[in-house]
Amino acid sequence: MQPEFESLVTLKKAIAEKKVSAVDAVTAYLERIGQHDESIHAFNELYGDYAMQRAAQVDAGQITGKLAGVPIAIKDNLCTPYGHTTCSSKMLANFKAPYMATAVGKLEAEGAIIIGKTNLDEFAMGSSTENSAFGMTKNPWDTTRVPGGSSGGSAAAMAADFAAATLGSDTGGSIRQPAALCGVCGLKPTYGKVSRFGLVAFASSLDQIGPFTRSVEDAALLMDVICGHDPKDSTSANLPASDHTLELHKPIENLRIGIAKQYMAEGNDPAVTKAVEDAIEVYKSLGATIVEVDLPHTEYGIPVYYIVATAEASSNLARYDGVHYGHRTEKPEDLYDLYAASRAEGFGDEVKRRIMLGTYALCSGYYDAYYNRALKVRRLIKQDFDKAYEQCDAILCPTTTGVAFKAGDKTDDPLAMYLNDVYTVNANLAGIPGITIPAGLSDDGLPVSIQLYGNAYEDAKLLRIAQMFQTATSHHTLRPKLG
Ligand code: GLN
Repeated sequence: MQPEFESLVTLKKAIAEKKVSAVDAVTAYLERIGQHDESIHAFNELYGDYAMQRAAQVDAGQITGKLAGVPIAIKDNLCTPYGHTTCSSKMLANFKAPYMATAVGKLEAEGAIIIGKTNLDEFAMGSSTENSAFGMTKNPWDTTRVPGGSSGGSAAAMAADFAAATLGSDTGGSIRQPAALCGVCGLKPTYGKVSRFGLVAFASSLDQIGPFTRSVEDAALLMDVICGHDPKDSTSANLPASDHTLELHKPIENLRIGIAKQYMAEGNDPAVTKAVEDAIEVYKSLGATIVEVDLPHTEYGIPVYYIVATAEASSNLARYDGVHYGHRTEKPEDLYDLYAASRAEGFGDEVKRRIMLGTYALCSGYYDAYYNRALKVRRLIKQDFDKAYEQCDAILCPTTTGVAFKAGDKTDDPLAMYLNDVYTVNANLAGIPGITIPAGLSDDGLPVSIQLYGNAYEDAKLLRIAQMFQTATSHHTLRPKLG
């Protein structure tokens, strides 16, 4: 790709300075997608005509803004009044949303060009994008491997340079884990920073929209655009809009990086352990102090997450009943059969599994033993983080235990798949921000990453800390060779 396309920030500048036209930018990405997406399958749908039309308007000066002319792809669980919003489910295969997700509307208001929607695990439930009803996405670094999930399409699109940036959603790791396996940056903001309006709900107390980018600088710029209070999302934080770019390049003095033994488990792939150890050295060389923090309730994260998330999912997905919208069975015998058959036909196995687990956890008689107890432990996990942030500015840990696994390796073992989220779910349970950044390649040439956790609402500070790492390293500039 031309040097102007190196990052979102460089492309935005090149378009603003008229070195590259918006039409050229859109054309370049669409051509690249045309050449390579057949073997990767990052996209569910492309908006070629719409994108070209908007690009022409940018070039004519009719559309302006911080992201004028920049092509961006979004996860196919974000509603737009054009095209389909399928959540990679048969249930919504023909669904056309009547409204626009706030985050996507904000991108467009700043001149960004939405070029298409990316594949995901059905309803964002999964860690490999193999649960998509429309076929899996492949990892651009090795197409026999998964890109991670559930935002695997957005991560793969970013890694393959199919857009200048992409949006995903993260309920338990769905931005950070695929970012790690595809070697790109992925940020899950603090819960409430980005409006969830127009994001198809999976688990409402955990879901958060965030960016996939090449660099931390790009992520900061996107955050400036997409965050902010939204009266249409009652859980969006009513805080003045924050600027993530303003002080991004100012290193933090007396930086304290926390390390928790609970995340440095023996079972981690040596390449992952080495990436974290190397990052510790990088931060030390930048003047940081390394402090040991204790997160004693870490191990309860997975069981708590898979109770809370499934409980909320079972309630959120009750709306797909074959009556309001979505798939409807053809010849129901009666009303009950209409509901039952529409849901049986429309949902895939993993979604059904989650609905059953969640319904069970919410049954009277089990509610206190499972759901209520999970909420209590969730609070303890949050308190662990509150205490840790009295001692440090950010916590450095792995995003995943290993590198991208082979397609099919974990599809028959839901528990093994769930354990993928062991280092990511706790940020969602605590509502804190987490960022994944590339940290090199394994011996097999597959991306490894590090993760940084920040304190709630300190997303700008977290980005600054991540930026310090990228200033000192060049891992984020590595790209896969596409076949
Ligand atoms: N992999 C996790 C799950 O399957 C997280 C999904 C997500 O963050 N959307 O639930």
